Amino acid sequence: MLLVDLRAQVYEANLDLVRRGLVISTFGNASGVARSEGLIVIKPSGVPYDEMKPEHLVVTDLQGKVIEGTLRPSSDLPTHAALYRAFPAIGGIAHTHSEYATAWAQARRPIPCFGTTHADYFHGPIPVTKAMPEKEIAGEYEANTGMAIVRAFRKKDPMDVPAVLVANHGPFAWGSDPRAATENAWMLEVVARMAYRTIKINADAGAIAKALHDRHFLRKHGKKAYYGQSGSKQ
Ligand SMILES: [Zn+2]
Repeated sequence: MLLVDLRAQVYEANLDLVRRGLVISTFGNASGVARSEGLIVIKPSGVPYDEMKPEHLVVTDLQGKVIEGTLRPSSDLPTHAALYRAFPAIGGIAHTHSEYATAWAQARRPIPCFGTTHADYFHGPIPVTKAMPEKEIAGEYEANTGMAIVRAFRKKDPMDVPAVLVANHGPFAWGSDPRAATENAWMLEVVARMAYRTIKINADAGAIAKALHDRHFLRKHGKKAYYGQSGSKQ
């Protein structure tokens, strides 16, 4: 069996999405990529989470061609593959329809950064993709969803803002590995809920000051990070 370690990580990441309450019905999938081999490991389509085993995961190449596995890969595979091709720094992706993040996606509003919880994980507002033209919906819809995300990051580093809202659909999050991707998917849901409540309390609430935003993001990420214990990820 190929990529035993990555399979275990992707398997855990998929279960983690369920444990963190981010999966509604079967809307959710996580994947990981082995950069040196150029291979993706992704959840199979339509297998209930409580019956899924690591050997059910599907291995594909970066074009989405199945290399190992008897089950069909998640139907969102072409979106994952497009992101792995366009964003070389990412190692894992998580897609959910978590309630608050999806509400913002449906409202087609970016999530402003109102506080340091958001700033610790995302260096800027969470962007929303542009609505897809009918031609792209009728065509290779999942791959075109990936391209819509890539277009939303033309002027942004995907590791600075490791999540996006796909218009009228839901969130995709990513990270250095599958575990980081699910953590970012979870934190995205948390900040989506907090932002919703913030504007309920004060519709005129302003975004966090840039200096405070930078301070919080950069103490955890980047070259001068100093938060947590040395050698740990946080
Ligand atoms: Zn979806």
